[in-house]
Amino acid sequence: PKDRACPPDGEELGRSAWSFLHSAAAYFPEDPSAQQQTSMLAVFRALPHIYPCHSCAEALGEEYKREEKEGGWEDRSLRLSEAVRSGPALRKWLCGIHNEVNQRLGKPAFPCTEAKLAERWLDGPADGSCD
Ligand code: FAD
Repeated sequence: PKDRACPPDGEELGRSAWSFLHSAAAYFPEDPSAQQQTSMLAVFRALPHIYPCHSCAEALGEEYKREEKEGGWEDRSLRLSEAVRSGPALRKWLCGIHNEVNQRLGKPAFPCTEAKLAERWLDGPADGSCD
């Protein structure tokens, strides 16, 4: 049968991209190897150059520049280059970057705690509804 699936629009693309990024962060170890740190840094640094929504990519690039100058979102000491040194730091950084986009789009902020991030992206809720 012919594949009738449609190309993703901006919303679907965004949900899929966030799913990949938060999942990769959820499985990023407490104490990543040098190779894992370099690779994760490369993935995030590549996004402003290749994310397939031009205005989104541009806004992300501006956010990275702002972060280098002023420090990370909410936690001013948390920048991407330092965040890749541990799983918890990377998850918090990514949650902050996603919240920055949420704020720009008028969407609610997500609570950036390890517990809430693990429930959403790793374990699912305690009631077993995602098992
Ligand atoms: P999404 O924002 O796609 O989130 C998916 C799920 O992630 C949510 O349902 C929630 O459970 C969870 N979540 C939400 N916030 C967080 C958080 N802070 N931490 C962890 N989990 C969270 N769209 C634009 O219109 N303009 C842009 O400039 C733009 N920039 C983008 C930049 C990037 C790098 C990416 C990946 C996407 C961007 N998008 C942009 C798309 C936009 O962020 C959304 O993906 C899209 O609008 C669909 O939104 P949604 O409400 O389905 O939830």
